[in-house]
Amino acid sequence: MPRVEGQQGRRPKAKGQKLKAKSHEPKAKSPELRAQSRGKGSAGKRLVSLKSKKARAARVLSVMEQLYPQAATELAHTNPFELLIATVLSAQATDASVNKATPALFKRFPDAFALAQARPEEVEPYIKTIGLYRSKAKNLVMLARKLVEEHGAEVPMDKAKLRALPGVGWKTATVVLGAAFGVPGIAVDTHLTRLARRLGLSEQKDPEKIGADLERLFPKEKWVFVHHALILFGRYRCTARKPQCEGCPLWAECLSKGAW
Ligand code: SF4
Repeated sequence: MPRVEGQQGRRPKAKGQKLKAKSHEPKAKSPELRAQSRGKGSAGKRLVSLKSKKARAARVLSVMEQLYPQAATELAHTNPFELLIATVLSAQATDASVNKATPALFKRFPDAFALAQARPEEVEPYIKTIGLYRSKAKNLVMLARKLVEEHGAEVPMDKAKLRALPGVGWKTATVVLGAAFGVPGIAVDTHLTRLARRLGLSEQKDPEKIGADLERLFPKEKWVFVHHALILFGRYRCTARKPQCEGCPLWAECLSKGAW
């Protein structure tokens, strides 16, 4: 029997052998397995089910309450105005560098009235040790003027009004509302972004979306605490480059364990 082109090497089917139906449907895999097969185990590639996220969040909360029962902002302040100014200054800067600068700044400009009357060049020397000090000085003066003109020199307890102030974005507004007024919210900074990923709590990249994910997982009355506690955990233990994984109480939950 002459060979037909393209059939070379194929085994002829035995008589009566049934053709196995070839399915074009992808094989069902759990989200975790799907993600693991794509990546090398890096936290950034894993997908975690909502059920697992909720269990993780409960464990994270319990550990945070044991580690940092008194978690609070490390930005030195005595009133909402100082907290707002310090939080604006902390953008792309460390809290420690802000705390070094603010005592003299607040002494010279103790409230929105005083700061509103200043020229940015008068503010610059007080914050020169902090990154982006020129644009921050400009924002602080404009922010103080707006506080005086539109809010009676008080910090508004309203996210939209806060966000309308120069230099104030979603994160700063959420931090100030939570720390100064106890308004529930999880502000997401660089530490929370990293931890949400490592602990399998969110796959999002955008801080606002990560915040929304976290707020779905933690009880509302714990949102402000979770924000502060995770910042402390990220700042002092689960650092970006050299996390202290040995003996970590969140080892079981961590998707990045063993990566260092
Ligand atoms: S095991 Fe390491 S990477 Fe994971 S949460 Fe703990 S310190 Fe962070």
